[in-house]
Amino acid sequence: MKAVLFHQHGGPEVLEYADFPTPEPGPGEVLVRLRAAALNRVDVLVRRGWPGLNLEMPHINGADGAGEVAALGEGVTGFQVGDRVVINANLGCGKCDFCLAGQDNLCRNWHLLGETVRGTYAQYVALPERQLYKLPPDFDFHTAAAAALVYQTAWHSLITRGNLRPGETVLVVGASGGVNTASIQIAKFAGARVIVVGSNEKKLAVAEAMGADILIDRSKEENWAKAVYRLTDRRGVDVVVDNVGTTYPLSFRAVRKGGRILNVGNTGGPKFEIDNRYIFGKHITLIGSTMSTLKDFREVMDLVTAGKLKPALDKTFPLAEARAAQERLERNEQLGKITLDIP
Ligand SMILES: [Zn+2]
Repeated sequence: MKAVLFHQHGGPEVLEYADFPTPEPGPGEVLVRLRAAALNRVDVLVRRGWPGLNLEMPHINGADGAGEVAALGEGVTGFQVGDRVVINANLGCGKCDFCLAGQDNLCRNWHLLGETVRGTYAQYVALPERQLYKLPPDFDFHTAAAAALVYQTAWHSLITRGNLRPGETVLVVGASGGVNTASIQIAKFAGARVIVVGSNEKKLAVAEAMGADILIDRSKEENWAKAVYRLTDRRGVDVVVDNVGTTYPLSFRAVRKGGRILNVGNTGGPKFEIDNRYIFGKHITLIGSTMSTLKDFREVMDLVTAGKLKPALDKTFPLAEARAAQERLERNEQLGKITLDIP
């Protein structure tokens, strides 16, 4: 098969479009003929590598993908050749106590597709059947692939972990990233009022298109916590979605007493200082999570395929030009999800 792979960690130049053996579906596995893949920040981080990440080279990036079932391993019962599917990249072992309790994103042997396991920048991938969601006929592969990782992540964080209620006010820090735009849409769907702080007008336009009620332009309003306070009658917001991390000092100010701060990542870098007095003084609950459960994935994909949630799509590149696609992501130019068209 054709795939975009790398033999060593490094910059975008290590990515090469090459031939790689097509995987064989093992027992309980389904071979998917991929038609679309979507990019995520983690792709770039994996390509660069980090201490302790030991991959079997060459590695193939990509957590998100959609396509058709091409072959079935022994014992597969839920799918037929030709079914259109989207992939859930959250790989639980299916056997440990957490997986058996339905908390497979807490799996003791947890993996993310494309991170520690070869991913979707390829024509084929083989996965256990529980990782697949059947798409309705004619549902767009790019939309499905673009939604899978970020919508399950945002849904699990806001709804399952964050217990978001109708009428609450949510502040989303960041206007155009995949999880943030999904969070805006899901918060609106849940009946919340949504305030978004973004870096410029172009990115805020995406947030507005996703349903944001109030926009704050960070390039004009550096101390956006103050603006949030003003907009909430000096009360603060019920929930902050902060996946930047380095913005916690402002998020701590913007959240109301007894409010929640939801976090699924750290686009601002892994280490920063916080003033702990805010946490106890304001009774702040800090809620972290990663990906979602199989149940949450099905729930959110039902809404995506019903058209109730719809990811913002940026540009599509041919698979062979994955390097240019990642460079666009690294330059932060995207307004929505970047996808790959797989020949
Ligand atoms: Zn497990």
